[in-house]
Amino acid sequence: MLEGFVPWPDDFVKLYKRKGYWEDLALAEHFDRWVQQHADRPAIVHDGREITYRDMGRYSTNLAYQLLRLGLGTYDRVIFQLFNSPELVCLFYACQKVGAIPICSLPTHRLHEISHFAGTVGARAHAVPSGKVKDFDFELFADEVGRAFPHVEIVLTVGKPERENHHSINELMHTDVDPDKASAVLAKCRPDPMEPAVFQLSGGTTDVPKIVPRTHNDYYYNAKCEAIAQSFGPETRCIVPMPLTHNMPMVCGVLPTHIVGGLLVLPSGSSGVAVMEAIDRYKANTLLTVPVIMHRMLEVPEDKRRQYDLSSFRRLWWGGNPVEPKTQLQFREVFSCDTNQVFGMAEGMIAWTRVDDPLETKLHTQGRPVSEADEIIIADVNTGHPLPYGETGELWVRGPYTIRGYYKAPERNREAFTEDGYYRTGDLMKRDEAGNLVFMGRVKDCISRGVEKINAEEVEKHILRHPKVRAVAVVAMPDKIMGERACAFVVPANGATLTLDELSEFLLNECRIAKFKIPERIELTDDLPISKVGKYEKKTLRERIAQILKDEASL
Ligand code: AMP
Repeated sequence: MLEGFVPWPDDFVKLYKRKGYWEDLALAEHFDRWVQQHADRPAIVHDGREITYRDMGRYSTNLAYQLLRLGLGTYDRVIFQLFNSPELVCLFYACQKVGAIPICSLPTHRLHEISHFAGTVGARAHAVPSGKVKDFDFELFADEVGRAFPHVEIVLTVGKPERENHHSINELMHTDVDPDKASAVLAKCRPDPMEPAVFQLSGGTTDVPKIVPRTHNDYYYNAKCEAIAQSFGPETRCIVPMPLTHNMPMVCGVLPTHIVGGLLVLPSGSSGVAVMEAIDRYKANTLLTVPVIMHRMLEVPEDKRRQYDLSSFRRLWWGGNPVEPKTQLQFREVFSCDTNQVFGMAEGMIAWTRVDDPLETKLHTQGRPVSEADEIIIADVNTGHPLPYGETGELWVRGPYTIRGYYKAPERNREAFTEDGYYRTGDLMKRDEAGNLVFMGRVKDCISRGVEKINAEEVEKHILRHPKVRAVAVVAMPDKIMGERACAFVVPANGATLTLDELSEFLLNECRIAKFKIPERIELTDDLPISKVGKYEKKTLRERIAQILKDEASL
């Protein structure tokens, strides 16, 4: 068992296997089956380039074989810091064939986050775009990471590498190997299905993102349930415009689409126009997305929208943040489509409204968990006692695809999991009479900005390093487009002043954190409200900034 991984207790393992939730196959074995079953069907389309299942199988086998030759082995970790592309998907499957574990990082992560993945998590390889993208030189950065962490020996690039010792994913996947020879070699790398297949990142609440170890058994079961809950079939042509390495795009988009033999559509960008262009060009019928992209689509002027043939588009699935019923209704009307919601988390449990649910359920609830084996408790926030239907408390979850602990994080695990293995989600929920979950807010200290979650405590730690700061509390402020943005309430040191520009510059260049985490507003204050237990009263601060924004809007 991989050191630092928290397994399910034996009785649950037996139960989940006996019930058939866990099939005891590695993800790569499932993948090989999809390739065989759907060989001639298109699997991915991007920038006019269509790849069949057969080719996707061949490319990932080529790549896996070459990764082995480069020295990558079973349970080695690979940092995925890539933009969406067929190469990213093939690398993901290639890692599965080698038994290596993708660390689902993001192109927006910087030294602070990547050092954690390289160091604490112990990566062997780092996959980046080649050269510069918007002034950021990814290969230069990968070398910097490699100097700081010499065990990150292999740098892989999407696109032609600019440095001699880096390896082109494109080239490796097109270097044909004898399939029988490759299969024989790769068969020896098959990982144990009870071990981690993917390292997802928590949207969590403390410090750098915690690592969410998703096993072969649990991730495949999760994706299979999604395909059923989302009514996916071979006719599904699913557009995924958010970063594929996030949990929702991966387990609700990429994998379920490929399980059923559907087509994964990767648009050229994440603007409203890019999504519509992709619907038109590839006759896509399904969109999996987040509210910010729904808003972008709604903002495209009607005359522009009419330039696209959107008649194939049938169904939207969105998640990550709530969307007001009136916006959902507007989306349904403008795009003549059905809208459904997903509520879930990288740690596991996912709930959906279902295709045949009444409109009221779709508009006002987050639906029901995808598996009959998902166990749910709505717990009193203060006492932890289970609450009856209709009352609001913290959502606790346990089940065959909800982790039992973060990777190498025993302290955090003691807080985040109950003794009997429930994950305390930090989300406030109630259940309606039909058993649908209704999102009521969050108790966890995080800001949900568009596709990303920001850990308030992590950002506060960095801000406190600024010489002009005596105290700071970072809270969510409401935002129509992004859902929430971060606002920093700062108590300056010795009467100093601090501007937003100064703070941003410090966080970007000195602390080297991802740009999406940088507060977008600063409020200087003489003092921060403190609760009886000595913590900042963030609720008061959230209310304060919401009121300030409201007052400003009414001026
Ligand atoms: P992540 O692990 O990054 O996917 O983030 C999971 C968190 O996103 C959940 O614990 C919720 O706080 C939030 N979330 C996901 N889906 C929804 C939704 N449909 N409505 C409100 N919040 C959501």
